[in-house]
Amino acid sequence: VHLYIHVPFCARKCSYCDFAIAVRRITPSGRFLDAVLWEWQAWQTHPAWVDSPELETIYLGGGTPSRLDPEILGELLGRIRSDRPVAAAAEVTLEANPDDVTPSRVALWMEAGINRYSLGAQSFSPAALEWMHRTHSADQTARAVGVLHASGIRNVSLDLIYGLPESIQRNWADDLEEALSLSPTHLSLYGLTVEPRTPVARWVTRGESTPPPERRAAEEYLAAHERLASSGYHHYEVSNAARPGFRSAHNQAYWGRHPYLGLGPSAHSSFGQTRSWNVREWEEYQKRAAAGERTVAGSEMLSADEIALEELYLGLRTCQGVPEASVGPGPAARWRDEGWAVAESGRIRLTPEGWLRLDALVASLTRC
Ligand code: SF4
Repeated sequence: VHLYIHVPFCARKCSYCDFAIAVRRITPSGRFLDAVLWEWQAWQTHPAWVDSPELETIYLGGGTPSRLDPEILGELLGRIRSDRPVAAAAEVTLEANPDDVTPSRVALWMEAGINRYSLGAQSFSPAALEWMHRTHSADQTARAVGVLHASGIRNVSLDLIYGLPESIQRNWADDLEEALSLSPTHLSLYGLTVEPRTPVARWVTRGESTPPPERRAAEEYLAAHERLASSGYHHYEVSNAARPGFRSAHNQAYWGRHPYLGLGPSAHSSFGQTRSWNVREWEEYQKRAAAGERTVAGSEMLSADEIALEELYLGLRTCQGVPEASVGPGPAARWRDEGWAVAESGRIRLTPEGWLRLDALVASLTRC
């Protein structure tokens, strides 16, 4: 079983972001601890959770969890460990913004048991970082990785965004080289999407920004595959590549439909057929927790067909693929002929060209 904790606080809102966040100059760490522990406590008697085995992974995502007071973070993880068995080799990840990484914070994070760090680098181009409204510079990303390495931490992942508007003149190949020069063990690559109600959406509507043609975003994605493969990284999921032994155990649990509990505003939980999700807004979440009310906003029971479709979609995201029979002989043959998939030992998995079309391929199956 796996645990996700959503820490919604950010120093400012990035121009493309539509996550559930709360912009705060000073992070209300104490209030967050109280609210999350209330929710954690409430789960301890939940039928889905009572008999759950030890925690295999814990993931602090956001938002910007690195803005949480590190001592409060230690208190939170300490309480979790005292209430629940946590596997000795559990992967414990902290998403961090590069400007939050200092030697003293890293020491406290390590003391709290964090052993994997995911840094939101996004780009090494000053113009791109400014356009994205990031709070850090390229130098701060390099420094953050240096601080982590100097503290003896090898398991460092970097996030990068591709498919930025051409007007920014960001050079994707240069960004990949900069990232590789820092020797991350893992890279997550996300294509820019224009989400409603974000600054980027407003700029696009007003004609002040133009997303790149789809073909160029696809070229950047494919170029990254080639470059990373030549440096010993394996693209094990549509957006993720890792050195041997450094795949994200937590994310693999999601793609394998393993049970997980999500704490914090907007967090989702999934146990077998049942899925539930929390209220999205921090203030509402905190208010409910303080009043001793449930923080869950909704839940659903998936049918066998919905689970099969989800398994198909999640399986095709990964390099393991899915049983060929679940795709069917017609689509499987077509995907192979087009170069979108390869079949081996009764399984079919998508190629990078196939991953570019993942949603359309799955949708084509559901229309059959
Ligand atoms: S730091 Fe992450 S969560 Fe916060 S605004 Fe930027 S993209 Fe969104």
